[in-house]
Amino acid sequence: SADNLQGYAPICLGLEDFYIRRLYLRIQDCFGRPIASAPDAWIDVVERYSNDNNKTLKRTTNINRCLNLGSYNYLGFAASDEYCTPRVFRSLETFSASTCSTCVDGGTTVLHNELEECVAKFVGKPAAVVFGMGYVTNSAILPVLIGKGGLIISDSLNHNSIVNGARGSGATIRVFLHNTPSHLEEVLREQIAEGQPRTHRPWKKIIVVVEGIYSMEGELCKLPEIIAVCKKYKAYTYLDEAHSIGAVGKTGRGVCELLGVDTADVDIMMGTFTKSFGSCGGYIAGSKELIQYLKYTCPAHLYATSISPPAAQQIISAIKVILGEDGSSRGAQKLARIRENSNFFRSELQKMGFEVLGDNDSPIMPIMLYNPAKIPAFSRECLKQNVAIVTVAFPATPLLLARARICISAAHTKEDLIKALEVISQVGDLVGIKYFPAEPKKQ
Ligand code: PMP
Repeated sequence: SADNLQGYAPICLGLEDFYIRRLYLRIQDCFGRPIASAPDAWIDVVERYSNDNNKTLKRTTNINRCLNLGSYNYLGFAASDEYCTPRVFRSLETFSASTCSTCVDGGTTVLHNELEECVAKFVGKPAAVVFGMGYVTNSAILPVLIGKGGLIISDSLNHNSIVNGARGSGATIRVFLHNTPSHLEEVLREQIAEGQPRTHRPWKKIIVVVEGIYSMEGELCKLPEIIAVCKKYKAYTYLDEAHSIGAVGKTGRGVCELLGVDTADVDIMMGTFTKSFGSCGGYIAGSKELIQYLKYTCPAHLYATSISPPAAQQIISAIKVILGEDGSSRGAQKLARIRENSNFFRSELQKMGFEVLGDNDSPIMPIMLYNPAKIPAFSRECLKQNVAIVTVAFPATPLLLARARICISAAHTKEDLIKALEVISQVGDLVGIKYFPAEPKKQ
């Protein structure tokens, strides 16, 4: 039935099948609903279509105010902020919304220089270069770093932007089992010619690519172990911190800080500004020589318009708040809040009997649904009770590992989280996704 097919809508779109597209449009469900507000703790979700006897599609303007458990607004900077927002407005007045120029041809303002310095200092590297989009940062940088004759060893669950960057580089690609350093070592050993000392002589260069927190798993990277293997086999490490920078670590400096890794041991640090900083764009941070090289050679730096000035200002201001340079303790409070919120929510879900992936401290919490047919029911029932949750299925996950992915924010209050837990628990019973016995409630 159309109902059961709802979970398959993204697959269907991938197939570009006209009839299935039409079917998808007729389905009123969780996918593709426009949002009519900032992605704060609560959002306005627009009811997408009204269905007139399946004949015509009419846009409606019904707005459903929902508790938002779907945005990557980890520190709550996506909403108006007393420090960031006035500065963003001022930068808009001074620089306008766009530089209308590439980075090398007049598109680098003083704000862009400040941003790069600020990011390098924040992530703990000598230099950084920023790009207008996080996705492009991975997909355009990898082909500059490595090419034919090189070897990329990529975690099996790396993000699509990494996969595309690796493919576009022309390097040989090998994949290691998700977050398994022993398998990474096996792959490296296999790739290094028999009888050679522990060098990577058959390859011009080897880059191992991992993520700080995996976005579909909510899992922290086993970074210390991965780095040990890379050092042993003289491979470079490339760390994508899209979901970890700003979100974890005592001062928000990501998985290196959380796991006690020296940033000098990570050769290439990548991250995005679309999550913890409430802005857009991405960065690469590394040695001065590396960044200089990238600025001279990366087409996405040479030929693309620089990041929008208000977006740049938002990042600078958010970093200042995180570091307490705004003169308040709000940054430290936000970091404490996201940790507390995440750990509270995760443990409550587990007590209720859900199968929740990921590690403590991670703000991403996938609840396993397994059967993709459970997606529409889960998502729709939550929405009916004003809780918006993103559900994820194939091709973002293996076909039978569908999940609801919850993203916790420092902007959520305890009452928000309790409401969400009540709704998820009820819907979980309805849909049948509590796989473990619930813990008895304490009196
Ligand atoms: N890397 C990872 C691990 C991601 O999850 C994403 C997107 N969420 C990106 C890169 C791309 O970043 P952006 O959405 O900022 O373009």
